[in-house]
Amino acid sequence: MVDLESVKRAQMNIADIIHRTPILSSEQFDLASGNKVYFKAEHLQKTGSFKIRGAANAVKNAVRDGVASITAASSGNHGQAVAYVAKQLGVQAVIVVPETASRVKVAAIESYGAEVVYCGTTSAHRIPKAQQLAAENNGVYIPPYDHEDIMSGQGTIGLELLEQVEGLDVILVPVGGGGLISGILAAVKNVNPGIKVIGVEPEEANDTWLSLQNGRITSIPESFTIADGLRTSQPGAMTFPVLQQYLDGLLLVSEADIKKTFQFLAERTKQLVEPSSAMAAAPLLFGELKDANLKAAVVLSGGNVDLKELQAILPE
Ligand SMILES: *Cc1c(COP(=O)(O)O)cnc(C)c1O
Repeated sequence: MVDLESVKRAQMNIADIIHRTPILSSEQFDLASGNKVYFKAEHLQKTGSFKIRGAANAVKNAVRDGVASITAASSGNHGQAVAYVAKQLGVQAVIVVPETASRVKVAAIESYGAEVVYCGTTSAHRIPKAQQLAAENNGVYIPPYDHEDIMSGQGTIGLELLEQVEGLDVILVPVGGGGLISGILAAVKNVNPGIKVIGVEPEEANDTWLSLQNGRITSIPESFTIADGLRTSQPGAMTFPVLQQYLDGLLLVSEADIKKTFQFLAERTKQLVEPSSAMAAAPLLFGELKDANLKAAVVLSGGNVDLKELQAILPE
């Protein structure tokens, strides 16, 4: 189970691998938002996203248990994080990616020394392949969110935020499979339950919103939101109950508002974050939390943007 103790253990476990990322603020953003906003800069994290926190925790524990090889099924931030950590710890990593994976992403994974295996186009192809490769090589398959070590590792962001900023009213967190927010909930809600933790999800990938409405895990068809780190089709079996227990709210953001927030963060605050991150700040600029006069933290979860894709991310 993910709880305050497991997150504290993760914090000790991963301290020598990760950066303790800074808190950024922007007068321009505060003025436009009508709130005092603290950005947790995970786009400046090693490998360019928070995913290394969970990956470091899970891979370290697996290596301690004696595994010889690590597999993952992701061409994105999770794949890069697992590849990087495996190299640091001196174990072999095999990352299964879709046949459609971009060259930039594959090159990043290979630069961390991992082997890349192409398989199919959907996670329904990739995950069994990665699990099979793990079984064949005395290895272990590391999922991107639905795993105690992953959730606990991501939750270390919550502990750092509590240390770095006093008196927060609310923490805004992007929601994909829910590993990031469930870890943060387990940490923050057991230290200071008065701080509201609010999830933010694209309207175009509203699986967690629907699941909360229905009171059970509900899946959606494949999504093409510009926030490509959040295209999960359903919340995790382990993450969802944590959200049901602790979450204070879940806000939805349109594709247009994701793009406008991305542009604002780049032009005015000079932070290049990926759309999956920018989205979490949108409710403070254009949505329900504008002019709310709150002390708010936003988890800027990652900064891996392919600059060739910039045209598609900017507003029309
Ligand atoms: C994975 C990811 C998310 C979502 O995290 P979950 O644990 O899947 O909810 C958000 N932002 C970025 C940049 C990511 O890579």
